[in-house]
Amino acid sequence: MRLTYEESAGLLHKFWSGEPVPSPKTGRPMRAFFVERTFAPQVVMIGTKGEHFRFDQKPRQIVFSASHIKSMVRDAKERENPVCPQDFEALYVKRIPATRFPGEWDWTFCCPKCLSFGTWEYTDKKDESTVPPTKKKEEAPPFHDETIPLPKRMEMAKTGDLALKLYAAMAQTDCTACGYDCEGYAKAIANGTEKNVTLCVPGKEETEDVVKKLMAGTYTFA
Ligand code: SF4
Ligand SMILES: [Zn+2]
Repeated sequence: MRLTYEESAGLLHKFWSGEPVPSPKTGRPMRAFFVERTFAPQVVMIGTKGEHFRFDQKPRQIVFSASHIKSMVRDAKERENPVCPQDFEALYVKRIPATRFPGEWDWTFCCPKCLSFGTWEYTDKKDESTVPPTKKKEEAPPFHDETIPLPKRMEMAKTGDLALKLYAAMAQTDCTACGYDCEGYAKAIANGTEKNVTLCVPGKEETEDVVKKLMAGTYTFA
């Protein structure tokens, strides 16, 4: 059974979001797991009728961050082919007329290699694209620095709310391997839209451990 690009990306996205993955053949949940292999890590899905899918995951699928998508839109408008920020593969670019703004466009970008994707809807807000890129860094909390050790970062976020403490627990590289930037991932966990607390790849067990304790209310500051 061959899957379309959208079907493949959709199944993988469910897998990485921790949701059940329905078989495109039967609609019933498939057994899905990650096979860690140095040169060819894969997500494997096996359905009840023997249907069987493999997706190469080096690198793994992400949802492109807002800042990635902005530069993709810019490239696409300048007729340069935007590339995946993870593997530099040329992206599939789809553009449809913006729903609310005639004459403008909504965009979707998909990577044929890692099946990462992202969409961008036109709004007439003077948004971040007009803000100099250094602004964000200046506004970032002082712990947003990957060279500060985690316990120190936690100390710096001690008086903040849960989202801020979670933010401090992340590895601070904004690498987007989790599908967000560090702040976005922390917020998504704090407000419950992201259930998977193990996605901070560079933070390793150290981050995972602190995030779990923060969520359980058992984290104690040094
Ligand atoms: S994987 Fe970790 S370091 Fe990378 S953006 Fe997500 S939270 Fe930040
Ligand atoms: Zn890619």
